[in-house]
Amino acid sequence: MIRIDSVTKRYPDGTVAVDRLSLEIPDRAITVLVGPSGCGKTTTLRMINRMVEPSEGTILLDGKDIQQQPVNTLRRSMGYVIQNAGLFQHRTILDNIATVPRLLGWGKERSRARARELMDRVGLDGTLARRYPYQLSGGQQQRVGVARALAADPPVLLMDEPFSAVDPVVRKGLQDELLRIQEELAKTIVFVTHDIDEAVKLGTMVAVMRTGGRLAQFAPPAELLTD
Ligand code: ADP
Ligand code: ADP
Repeated sequence: MIRIDSVTKRYPDGTVAVDRLSLEIPDRAITVLVGPSGCGKTTTLRMINRMVEPSEGTILLDGKDIQQQPVNTLRRSMGYVIQNAGLFQHRTILDNIATVPRLLGWGKERSRARARELMDRVGLDGTLARRYPYQLSGGQQQRVGVARALAADPPVLLMDEPFSAVDPVVRKGLQDELLRIQEELAKTIVFVTHDIDEAVKLGTMVAVMRTGGRLAQFAPPAELLTD
């Protein structure tokens, strides 16, 4: 479990992005952070993999303070997916996905076999393997982003508005795919969105944040209070 314990983030310019946030993020479920732009969702997500350090408070992963763990070990246990996929433009789709296992010291063939298996899992046709990112649609690129994040089989996936830049029909397909992947692989997913409908559709638990980085609600979708 990831436990966020009274965490505050104050950026050097004085902006309080997250204000005394406490959250218990359950294992093997999708926890969605939702709220308006600027309410601290991305900052919260980035504190979980230590791209951003909290000013106060602690974050525990399976009971251990993440500050006490080597950052590389921590990040190896966490896949990260962002809005525009962040793919390596000069590498093929297959190589984009195989990069992480390669970095972990898997052999070339085993890494590529793993990449092909993942393309299949996220619904990408194998014929796309030799193409480059610019030759794919936005939705296909996001699928590559998800496959790459899954490549090393991390227990945790951090996803920052991964489907926000694609059109509604494609977005629905990606959401369905994520639910299917979650059912099969049972990852611990922390998913950031500003779209309440997406939060309700995907979330096992939904954390509603409000401007100023405060937590407004934390509940399963069916129990969220609307206002
Ligand atoms: P969200 O993901 O909900 O849009 P962010 O976490 O990106 O929110 O930002 C929360 C607040 O912190 C915003 O007011 C934003 O402008 C501010 N912020 C984000 N990153 C920085 C930074 N590096 N330096 C200063 N302020 C920042
Ligand atoms: P996102 O919300 O997806 O992080 P942004 O465009 O808000 O995208 O932020 C892009 C980058 O700028 C991030 O590294 C973020 O930390 C930084 N940033 C955001 N807001 C501010 C701010 N007010 N001052 C300084 N840096 C900021």
